[in-house]
Amino acid sequence: MIDILIIGSGVAGLYAGVNTPKSKNCLIITKGMPWQSNSFYAQGGVATALNKKDIQLHINDTMKAGDNYCSLEAVKALSENSLSVIDDIIKMGFEFDKDENGKLAYTKEGAHSSKRILHANGDATGRFLHSFLMQKNPHAIESNLIVTDLLIKDNICYGVEVLDSNNKLKHIYAKSVVIASGGIGSLYKYSTNEKSISGDLHGICINKGIELIDMELMQFHPTSYISKDKTANLLSEALRGEGALIVDEYNRRFLFDYDERAELAPRDVVSRAIFDYQQKNSTKVYLSFENFDKNFFKIRFPNIYKTLSEFGFTLPRDKIKISPAYHYSMGGIKTDLNGKIPNIKNLYAIGEVACTRVHGANRLASNSLLETLVFPKRAIDDILSKNFNFKKIDFKIKDKELEKKDDLKIELELQNLMWNFIGIIRYKDKLKFSLQEIDKFLSSDIGELLKFKLLTAKSIVKQALNRKKSLGAHYIIN
Ligand SMILES: Cc1cc2nc3c(=O)[nH]c(=O)nc-3n(C[C@H](O)[C@H](O)[C@H](O)COP(=O)(O)OP(=O)(O)OC[C@H]3O[C@@H](n4cnc5c(N)ncnc54)[C@H](O)[C@@H]3O)c2cc1C
Repeated sequence: MIDILIIGSGVAGLYAGVNTPKSKNCLIITKGMPWQSNSFYAQGGVATALNKKDIQLHINDTMKAGDNYCSLEAVKALSENSLSVIDDIIKMGFEFDKDENGKLAYTKEGAHSSKRILHANGDATGRFLHSFLMQKNPHAIESNLIVTDLLIKDNICYGVEVLDSNNKLKHIYAKSVVIASGGIGSLYKYSTNEKSISGDLHGICINKGIELIDMELMQFHPTSYISKDKTANLLSEALRGEGALIVDEYNRRFLFDYDERAELAPRDVVSRAIFDYQQKNSTKVYLSFENFDKNFFKIRFPNIYKTLSEFGFTLPRDKIKISPAYHYSMGGIKTDLNGKIPNIKNLYAIGEVACTRVHGANRLASNSLLETLVFPKRAIDDILSKNFNFKKIDFKIKDKELEKKDDLKIELELQNLMWNFIGIIRYKDKLKFSLQEIDKFLSSDIGELLKFKLLTAKSIVKQALNRKKSLGAHYIIN
């Protein structure tokens, strides 16, 4: 039997693998190919306290960004452990960008009081970190396995049910199971997330009576380029930090109508402003690089430059039509500070799928990659210290239809519903309508995989309705 089974091959899952000794029988399973994760697409960087003195300032910034809804204990754990995890990956050989003196190059992002973001290859931090951890992980990774159930009985998780690439269901038994399956992006019509990130494990947990918290708290990124295939290609906040402007069709910087900080206002403020301005004026909105020098653009943002050029833009001359898009989930499966899910003896959740309340009601920029390093290590340390064991019981593979003919149609309707009514600005009556619609979808003839997505969506709407007042990124008009 497997000792530690990890679901997901993003940075959280891989760093959990890296921290599991070779002597343990550990397996990482993942839905698509290993790089198909949000981690791979992270651009800006990883936040860290600069030194012991900076810990308190990093804590203060995180609490403030989170609208003081964060768990102080979780934020302390994040910041206090940041120095050791960053030191650990550097010692393993990871190379963050350096300045001209060969020292680590720290940059600043919105709402940080100091320059404390580390990055790799300019704007490709996620890709570099992911590839590096793939090389360092000593355990097997099995691709194209979709988790379709958790095998839970009497508060013990015995393993998982998976659908393999031959469309066959099978069981994998393990002494401890770690969920590292990321966020919920594909529930939304416009999302910066990788397509495989669709809240499946959230839904499976709801089905098992496991508690999800703060699901209504999510970030929308203000600047993405929607390509023909409807993918929202993220245009990093750092572009605005370096002078890119948000303008309307007449080149007017309308953000000043909403906030004197204009392009440098917090993400949720900018997203709401764009959404509102577009609705009221039926105008297109653009990101303009008129202040950029071509060489600077190429060197500082090599990947964004390349991606936009491949879409046919001439930079920095062309303005890019932008839209806000769903980006990040602050809520998730409730865990303690070791990633342990309450009431189930050997089940853990780490990374974006988990909620320790470390981000409160609004995540401080670049704290999520840090979260995917700090909490996986704590979870693996906890698992190793407990050495949990049990007498295996065999679960029967039940006959079930995972996909049915109308699923795709309903999924597209769900994505529209989520984008229009459970998006940047929420109205109570529209939330109520959405709940009815989701219940209608749930009672129709659907496959199991869609059911999980609908259950996740339903928990978002229910929790949004329960949160009567706006808080952090949740903006509600009654
Ligand atoms: C475009 C973009 C840019 C970002 N930039 C930054 C940044 O600069 N700094 C920062 O701190 N954060 C950034 N973020 C957020 C950050 O990247 C994520 O929060 C973080 O990487 C999540 O890591 P994770 O390991 O928890 O999940 P992910 O990296 O999303 O990995 C989840 C894994 O679970 C697998 N999985 C999902 N469902 C199943 C299933 N049913 N069965 C089996 N496997 C499954 C997926 O295939 C995937 O391998 C960005 C996010 C995006 C989308």
